[in-house]
Amino acid sequence: MSEITKKIKDRSLFNEPLSKHTSWKVGGPADTFFIPNNRDELSQFLKSNHDKPITWLGNGTNVLFRDGGIRGSVISTKKSLNNIKMEAENSCRVEAGASCMDLALFAEKNKLGPAAFFSGIPGSIGGALVMNAGSFGHETWDFVESLEVIDQTGTIHNLNPKDFKFSYRDVKFPFPLWFLSCLMQFSESENNH
Ligand SMILES: Cc1cc2nc3c(=O)[nH]c(=O)nc-3n(C[C@H](O)[C@H](O)[C@H](O)COP(=O)(O)OP(=O)(O)OC[C@H]3O[C@@H](n4cnc5c(N)ncnc54)[C@H](O)[C@@H]3O)c2cc1C
Repeated sequence: MSEITKKIKDRSLFNEPLSKHTSWKVGGPADTFFIPNNRDELSQFLKSNHDKPITWLGNGTNVLFRDGGIRGSVISTKKSLNNIKMEAENSCRVEAGASCMDLALFAEKNKLGPAAFFSGIPGSIGGALVMNAGSFGHETWDFVESLEVIDQTGTIHNLNPKDFKFSYRDVKFPFPLWFLSCLMQFSESENNH
């Protein structure tokens, strides 16, 4: 068994109850529940499972799973791919598994604004990107400069917001994909003046 195959096996749970991973605490077992440690593991996992159904789970605040559970694999980023770092002046790279609250706190610490509205959204950045989550007059996609996504074959693509159609709480994708990270550009926080 190759090193990466072993790591993927170590990061996989079998017949994992989804009730443990959703905010409503309901949902039967997932055949396989995979928590990727990094992009290589994720990519390899998708390559070897592209013929089976894949369900992506962020923080599980906007999903209801049936008692019968989910066949195939659930990929969870609740505890992975959650780094946030400054990339240039007033811009930061946010991985999809980071929570919206973490982004709000990071923005406050680094004097980026307006990002406090993210603190009222309970999910992950991946979940916020999927539905263009927002509040207090701001929406997630107002701040997105570029995106890193992965497709069903495990190939990573760098996309531009222009590749998507987004409107109020709705986003249309150019092809089936999942979000890995996005670059977000904010203005200098008003608290700075
Ligand atoms: C109490 C409460 C208050 C809320 N208030 C607001 C509000 O003020 N404004 C607002 O806009 N919304 C609000 N929401 C909705 C909120 O935006 C969503 O619950 C949240 O964005 C979902 O994120 P999640 O990480 O929990 O996604 P999940 O519930 O895990 O998944 C939701 C969907 O997103 C998909 N998904 C998750 N991550 C990715 C990814 N990386 N790539 C591709 N697909 C992915 C999943 O497959 C699934 O289809 C609220 C929800 C709750 C429960």
